[in-house]
Amino acid sequence: MATCAILDLHGLQALMDALRGRGYRVIGPTLRDGALVLADITSVEDLPRGIGDDQAAGHYRTRARADEALFGFAATAQSAKPALFPPDQQLWSGTRVGDGYDVSPREPEPAPVALLGIRGCDLAAITIHDTVLLGRGAIDAHYATRRDHAFLIAITCATPAGTCFCASMGTGPKPGEGADLTLTELLDPHRFLVETGTPAGEEVLAELASEPAAAADLAAAEAVVAGAVAQMGRQVQTDDLRDLLYASAESPRWNDVGERCLACTNCTMVCPTCFCTSVEDVSDLSGDVDERHRVWDSCFSMEYSRLHGGAVRTSTSARYRQWLTHKLAAWTDQFGMSGCVGCGRCITWCPAGIDLTAEVAALREDATHRETTPASAALAAPPGTGGARTRSGTTTGSATPPTPSTDR
Ligand code: SF4
Ligand code: SF4
Repeated sequence: MATCAILDLHGLQALMDALRGRGYRVIGPTLRDGALVLADITSVEDLPRGIGDDQAAGHYRTRARADEALFGFAATAQSAKPALFPPDQQLWSGTRVGDGYDVSPREPEPAPVALLGIRGCDLAAITIHDTVLLGRGAIDAHYATRRDHAFLIAITCATPAGTCFCASMGTGPKPGEGADLTLTELLDPHRFLVETGTPAGEEVLAELASEPAAAADLAAAEAVVAGAVAQMGRQVQTDDLRDLLYASAESPRWNDVGERCLACTNCTMVCPTCFCTSVEDVSDLSGDVDERHRVWDSCFSMEYSRLHGGAVRTSTSARYRQWLTHKLAAWTDQFGMSGCVGCGRCITWCPAGIDLTAEVAALREDATHRETTPASAALAAPPGTGGARTRSGTTTGSATPPTPSTDR
């Protein structure tokens, strides 16, 4: 059974010190270059005291809060993903020796990380990566090493952003299972409710000078959760998402979003669950030293779908469809869970302001329209397409961009 206790700000510092004393790098939220990011921190003073954020589609700004909250903001610009699944991972290096080649073991992994203040959405994303990268036939050794040694301190989200929809996805604002410790920040007086989630969390908490949690503390923490749910910026109807996405394979909405999407890959770079990579080989100028790296890649890049003879998904609309359909439908078939945790980062950091929740709503509206429109009317040319839609969804007419069905 979980232990509940109260830590004050000195206790929070003692927690960080205890983790550092155990050899952890403590990674937590801090203000850097006008954004709240996860980075190495050593002190409570490194946390963004009294700073909140405003997030909307294609919009991010920090702002001053009227209080001294240390975690009074929503999802940080980047999630915890880079700490456990880095964007550039050296796999091996080799040096020419005479006519042969010496292959060196891969770089040693860095010190284990303690992730402080991760949100429910990001904790759920780590659980997803555990399934994808550890729970199947081939275990990702790099991820396994980092993950095995990581210490997770989640925090209840008190002030979700306008782009957040974790409540819809069932991942927040109260973090689910998987954290060693879960904090809820309480103000007046400033303190933290701490709940243990693992024996490792129990062990660390036992070292700290904490107070037992009172009924008033527990009630205050519940009020934080209720307040966050009430402030949730967006929502998604999830009960039939998989079927909706599969049934929408030929929706004209993909062409609409394809015309707005810049294929910049931002959404996949900030997404805490995206895990696509490619392999790059680099050598020095002499050609005597080679390195192989695994780097993040994106299904929004043309090259990512290259098979023999060329790319499979040459249009932006086809790539957006691939991304959203995998996230919300095929992921469920592959891994038994949604690939989206509702963090909202793909909305905030999309330079075109494309909003996953709005795209799903539009697909739903389109599906409803198809159900209620007679087949003969559905075959008429949709406005602005410049051609008549055939029964298969292909489009005729010279000014019309190819639909996903003809350009995958
Ligand atoms: S798809 Fe968007 S909202 Fe969902 S987890 Fe990825 S970045 Fe977050
Ligand atoms: S949806 Fe937005 S963030 Fe994603 S590739 Fe397109 S323009 Fe970039």
